[in-house]
Amino acid sequence: MAVALIVAAGLGERLGAGRPKALVELAGRPLLHWSVEVLSAVPAIERVIVALPEGVSAPAGTVGVRGGAVRSESVRLALAQAGDGDDADPVLVHDAARPLLSAELVAATLAAVAEDGVDAAIAAAPLTDTVKRAGSEVCRQDGARAAGGEGSATRSLPVVSETLDRAGLWAVQTPQVFRRAALQRALDVPDAVLAEATDDAWLVERAGGRVVVVSAPKVPETLPALRIV
Ligand code: C5P
Repeated sequence: MAVALIVAAGLGERLGAGRPKALVELAGRPLLHWSVEVLSAVPAIERVIVALPEGVSAPAGTVGVRGGAVRSESVRLALAQAGDGDDADPVLVHDAARPLLSAELVAATLAAVAEDGVDAAIAAAPLTDTVKRAGSEVCRQDGARAAGGEGSATRSLPVVSETLDRAGLWAVQTPQVFRRAALQRALDVPDAVLAEATDDAWLVERAGGRVVVVSAPKVPETLPALRIV
């Protein structure tokens, strides 16, 4: 059977909502609750474990665990609460910051990880934006001239050095589903390595695991609407 780990322990400082991002409301309900509802309704998922900030209680029907200092540490702490399971059992990891999870995407990632020789299946959307590298050289701009008014502040404008070929590039999301043993092994690394990980699949890749991509709709992680809550 599968277990789902939802990471919701981030403080959401970038969003600036004054509370953890997972608790910011979308259409009248905390972000976290949208994912809990979808994952709790999947018959193959027997347990939903949520990594939370200190002092926040777990939604009904889930098991709460205090999150860690970085995202993958929260995953590691949640996995430790998952109980016994077979090495090949799927473990689904999802960011509470992505409330628009669909049951179809959950089913597609669970099906993909069940294929022979696959250690992880991750949701991702093909890159459609043009991607440029910029910033190694900067152009100084006079603040007064830029604003068309008074003031002496200057700012730096990154200069473009390269336009990348976006063919074969994917913008990675969650859910990410892992064979349990592969995730366990990948997370069994020093804290400094965990701190470098922007997703858990990277930890599996660096351990030599095989990660496949499941095509997903392009959905922004933080909806612009949240900024006005
Ligand atoms: O901050 P970031 O965009 O990486 O957060 C992605 C997800 O990881 C969010 O749902 C956030 O709550 C969670 N997270 C966590 N523990 C942390 C940092 C982030 O559970 N220490």
